[in-house]
Amino acid sequence: MISRFAPSTTGEAHPGTLLSALLVWLDARSRGGRVLLRLEDLDITRVKAQWSRQLVEACAWLGLDWDEIVIQSQRAPAYEAALDGLARMGRLYACTCSRADRSGGRRAPDGGWAYENTCRERVITDWRSAVDAVRVRLPDEPVVLIDDGGVELSQVPARDMGDPIVRRKDAVIAYQLAVVVDDAAAGITDIVRGRDIAPSTATQVMLQQLLALPMPRYRHHFLLLEPSKDKLAKLHGSIPFSALRARHGSEELCGILAHAAGLVDTTAPCRARDLIPEFRWSRVHTSDLVATFDDDLGLTCAPTASSATIQS
Ligand code: GLU
Ligand code: ZN
Repeated sequence: MISRFAPSTTGEAHPGTLLSALLVWLDARSRGGRVLLRLEDLDITRVKAQWSRQLVEACAWLGLDWDEIVIQSQRAPAYEAALDGLARMGRLYACTCSRADRSGGRRAPDGGWAYENTCRERVITDWRSAVDAVRVRLPDEPVVLIDDGGVELSQVPARDMGDPIVRRKDAVIAYQLAVVVDDAAAGITDIVRGRDIAPSTATQVMLQQLLALPMPRYRHHFLLLEPSKDKLAKLHGSIPFSALRARHGSEELCGILAHAAGLVDTTAPCRARDLIPEFRWSRVHTSDLVATFDDDLGLTCAPTASSATIQS
């Protein structure tokens, strides 16, 4: 069993980052598996080296260790080989649509607009000199999939989400391609990640099929959300790691996160490795929690008010 924690290094680590890291790590370690940290740093317009460093540091501080660290920005040849393969199949095309062109059509499972595959006829082979976004024409077929937590992920990805971008207009390799190439290269057998990514899983499985890559098992865990009066959003940078570390010791924060996840009955301080023997997915909450932080109370995670609705 090989698993991975794959954060994007586009901002400061926050409680949601650490919760996800803890769950991925506990799942792997409780099964005697290997687990690697993959720094997803391809988006040169948003990543910073300091966020990569901080992620590594934050995980170590929490007591999590990795069998290997993979850095996506060092893996360009692997992505290029995958693009060459898709080009040989005649599946790459240049998409000239603007954001405005894409809005107003059909809603996708992730809450955005589905891409209507408008540019499918603009087939290209020389993706290296493309000046537009490059998409891959997916088979118009269903992916039937239920994840290990029982979450229904079946889709016709080409219709429900639309053909994915694999290389952006600014030449950055897109997440959907990088993730399947890297998971296969590392021999990942089990993927645990936040529920916000669940709508992309069918697209990734279809890309694995096109590239003849093995399909890992999937599990999508609950999220920590931003406090807000009417609508809920996934937690982003509003509770930065630097503030958490200034307020909490590492065992204290580990206890708070473990309690929030449902793994222990109290928020008493604990070490990540002490949670390994009793770790069971059946104990982990399935509902999202709202995270709040102030210097007095520190980090608290509480159930959402039932009237609120989730916005992705
Ligand atoms: N880098 C993605 C994120 O931080 C997660 C990728 C994955 O787990 O597949 O949202
Ligand atoms: Zn288009």
